[in-house]
Amino acid sequence: MNKKDHILNGVLLAVGLGIVLHPAGDLKALTTIVEVFVPVVLGTMLPDIDTEFGRHRKTLHNVFVIAALYGYVVYFGNLEWVWVGALSHFLLDMVGSKRGLALFYPLWDREFAFPFGVKTSSGYATIATVVITVLELAALAAALYWVPTLIPSGIDVTNATQAVSLL
Ligand SMILES: [Zn+2]
Repeated sequence: MNKKDHILNGVLLAVGLGIVLHPAGDLKALTTIVEVFVPVVLGTMLPDIDTEFGRHRKTLHNVFVIAALYGYVVYFGNLEWVWVGALSHFLLDMVGSKRGLALFYPLWDREFAFPFGVKTSSGYATIATVVITVLELAALAAALYWVPTLIPSGIDVTNATQAVSLL
């Protein structure tokens, strides 16, 4: 996707995260939106820095970058929402556009893509961005509120639920 659509993705994702994590729509929802807004938007813009150096859709569009960003969360306790934005960027590029990502670069140069998607210059790119962002939020909402109802009683999933909630 192009820069404008990645920023749109970040803005919608930040607002959606506030609503999904605090569906009552109270002050906590607003506070969460403000809290995650800048880091998520920065995360959605970060991978395309490789348009300026390295190889676009390779250098900063691979699993090692996501692992490194998540490593900052685990080991340093920062960049909590930046990696979420970067992951969303990857999904948008892979699912929403025709060209794939070299997910295992520099070990493997092959670009992986879904068989659908639009050109980043297409008039449908923004619509694809909105649809994919809504699907991401729907998947998160399902993971938080629907999947736990499918687990038979007697199985303790407290830790797993807490782990997802901390995202
Ligand atoms: Zn990209």
